[in-house]
Amino acid sequence: MSPSDQPSVRLRPEIVALPAYRQGKAANASAFKLSSNENPFDPLPGVVDAVNAVSAFNRYPDASALALRERLAARYGVASDEVHIGAGSVALLAQLITAAAGPGDEVLYSWRSFEAYPSLVTVSGATSVTVPNRADHGHDLPAMAAMITPRTRVVLVCSPNNPTGVVVTADEFAAFMDQVPTDLLVILDEAYAEFVTDPAAVDGTTLLGRYPNLVVLRTFSKAYGLAGLRVGYGIGPVGILDAARATAIPLSVTGQASAAALASLDAEAELLARVAVIAARRDGIQQALAGAGLHSPSSQANFVWLPLGEATAAATERFTDAGLVVRPFHPEGIRVSIGEEESVATLLRISAEIVQDLPTGHPARRLG
Ligand SMILES: *Cc1c(COP(=O)(O)O)cnc(C)c1O
Repeated sequence: MSPSDQPSVRLRPEIVALPAYRQGKAANASAFKLSSNENPFDPLPGVVDAVNAVSAFNRYPDASALALRERLAARYGVASDEVHIGAGSVALLAQLITAAAGPGDEVLYSWRSFEAYPSLVTVSGATSVTVPNRADHGHDLPAMAAMITPRTRVVLVCSPNNPTGVVVTADEFAAFMDQVPTDLLVILDEAYAEFVTDPAAVDGTTLLGRYPNLVVLRTFSKAYGLAGLRVGYGIGPVGILDAARATAIPLSVTGQASAAALASLDAEAELLARVAVIAARRDGIQQALAGAGLHSPSSQANFVWLPLGEATAAATERFTDAGLVVRPFHPEGIRVSIGEEESVATLLRISAEIVQDLPTGHPARRLG
């Protein structure tokens, strides 16, 4: 911060210390944007039409997106009050954390995980407590359970984990929930659930009604390709969702977003066929990376994680120079979203070059 950027009013020091959100560099026209886990397919015409049909935007939207809640409730066999819609599931994370945790409280999660978690916790006034990912880049749930104290108010479980792609299994999650006090809120963040093909993975939608302290989060941003419209949902006990609703900025979910989500559910077969293409592309990329001698944890999401450590910065530059915009997390690794088919050959070529230059014994190097 330069002196002229010093705030002239008294602000919360922990907020001033947070990095302001700055979106990654826009990809230049010829580059592939593989940095935000977006869906590379263009929106379906039927979804575009549904958005365009919402023309009465001189009026406020329906505050609770009732039609969408009812549709999701019917699908998951819950009451419509057990579904809560937000302007992206990040909004729901913010609401739930704020509802449960404040100054003096702790929010527990695995790290590295979703980059939004630390600042959402700081904004709530609570303190982050993190447990390192296992060596295979998945959550260490027994270690997390051991970190629960009377101050813990929220546990965030991300499966598949962003940015590593590793899932929590159904068995691991059940064992974890058995250890968690039933008055401690657990949020299962499943932003990438639709890309999961491993039958052992946890699926929060099969657990609805089983735990009084569990909220499952899903989003239309990734698999359904609605990132720019901002719509996600939480499913869980009414009392918890009511507390989230009380913290929400009213009327954030637009009529266009609700209409697009409903139209996407109508077009689900077509959209899930695209998801299957992405998942197969992911599996092909992972196999090719392994063949090239690059170790990447087993991803069940629409991205892969390259645990390049100190080589992250130089590797990012190579990808950028080759026309691939990727997401570095210094000094741990690079997350690469599964994008257009035309991006794959370059991704594999540059990855093979990178692994050749890793020193022998580097954890990401599988070459002899
Ligand atoms: C992308 C993402 C979200 C939510 O994104 P929205 O666009 O706000 O719905 C939530 N959690 C994780 C882990 C994500 O990667």
